[in-house]
Amino acid sequence: MYKWVEIDLDAIAANYQKVRKFVRKETKILGVVKADAYGHGAVEVAGELERQGIDYLGVTELEEGIKLRRAGIKTPILVFGPFLPEDAYCLKEFDLTISINNLEFLKFLAEKAIPLKAHLKLETGFGRTGLKYDQLAETADILKKNDFLNIEGAYSHLSTAMWDNSSYVKKQYEEFNRAVSFLEEKGISLPIKHICNSAALSKFPQMHLDMVRVGNLLYGQQVGGKNIFQEELLNAWYLKSQIIYINELPKGHPIGYEQTHILKKDTKIAIIPVGYVHGFSVEPLLKPKGIINLFKVLGKNILRFFNHPRVQIYGDIKGVKVPVLGKVGMQLTILDVSHIPQVQIGDTVLLPGRRTNISVSLPKVFLKGGKPLKVRSIQEKYEQVTLAAK
Ligand SMILES: *Cc1c(COP(=O)(O)O)cnc(C)c1O
Repeated sequence: MYKWVEIDLDAIAANYQKVRKFVRKETKILGVVKADAYGHGAVEVAGELERQGIDYLGVTELEEGIKLRRAGIKTPILVFGPFLPEDAYCLKEFDLTISINNLEFLKFLAEKAIPLKAHLKLETGFGRTGLKYDQLAETADILKKNDFLNIEGAYSHLSTAMWDNSSYVKKQYEEFNRAVSFLEEKGISLPIKHICNSAALSKFPQMHLDMVRVGNLLYGQQVGGKNIFQEELLNAWYLKSQIIYINELPKGHPIGYEQTHILKKDTKIAIIPVGYVHGFSVEPLLKPKGIINLFKVLGKNILRFFNHPRVQIYGDIKGVKVPVLGKVGMQLTILDVSHIPQVQIGDTVLLPGRRTNISVSLPKVFLKGGKPLKVRSIQEKYEQVTLAAK
C-alpha cells in the first residue's frame, strides 16, 4: 500500500472509558465524530463508541450524519449545523437530531410542520451561530405553538476553554444559564443541557450539566491544561509509509526543489511516496491570537529557514529517527537514512502528521486487539489500461 493511516480502535475505546469514569454517572456523553472522526474514520469510530455504550454522537454536517446512518449506526446523532431550510427534510428522514441555530430556521420548521428531534443552540459569546438572548421570547412562543418539535435540550459552544484564563468561559456559562432559565420559565422543558467540550470538561466538572461533548480526548489529545486522568490517554492514529527507493549521494549535493538543503556529508537517502498533496507537513495558516503567538509563528519560520533541529521533521524507522531533507514534494519526500545500515526498500516509516489534515484518500487500517480488523480506502476506479500494440 506504500502509505496508509493505522487506527487503533481499542485506544479510542480506552480513552472513552476514561472519560466515562471521570464524569458523573448521570451525565451523558456525546462523542464528536465530525471531520471523519478527526481523521480516524467516522463510521468505524462511531461503531466502536456505540459498542462502548456512548449516549450520543455529534457531527457538523448533515451529510456526515447520513453517512453514519447508512452504515447502520443506531445511536442518536446531533448535527451541529448550521443548515439550509431544505436540509430539514433529510434530517427527518435519517432520524438525525437537529440543532436550531437561528430563528429563521425555527420559523421554517414551524411553518412546514416538520416533526424533528432538536436541541436549541444558544449564542453565548462564541460569535458564530445560535439563538440570541433577545430572540428567546419569540423562540419560546413558536415552540409552545408547535409541539411537534421535540426539544430534547439546549447547548452552547465555548471559544476559550483551552486558555488558562477561565473568565470568558465563566461568562459564557453564566450567559447560558441565564438563557436556559429564561426558556424554562416560559415553560420550555430542556432535559439535556450541555456546554462542555474536551478542555472544559477536564477543567470545570461543575459545568458538566446533563451531557458533555467530547472530541479531542477520545483521540488521545489533552487540550488546555493538566492531565486529569490517572493513566495517559492513548494515541490511536499512526501515519505510515514504506520506502520505495534508496540512493547514495555525495557531500555537497543539493537536495530537492530550490536546493533548500545541501548535503554536509556523503548521505544515503530514502524516498517515500508521501507529500503535501496527502497533507503531510501541511499546517493550517491561522491568524496568530496575539503578539506572543505572532512571534512564535515568526520564530518558527526563522528556525525553519536555518534548518534548525527544533523545527526539523523526523520520520521513525523501527524507533530510529530519520530527518526529512529539503522541501517536501507534492507526492514524494526525501529522508536521511545514512545512520541505518540495514535499511531496505519496503521498510515502514512512521510519520508525524496533523490528523485532520491528512488526506482521506489514504487507506485506513483499523486495528482491534492489535491486529488489522479491516481496511477502508477510497479507491478511484481506473479503466482497464490497454497497451498499444507492440
Ligand atoms: C468540535 C466540537 C466539540 C468537541 O470539541 P473537542 O475540543 O474536540 O472536545 C464539541 N462541540 C461542538 C459544537 C464542536 O463543534
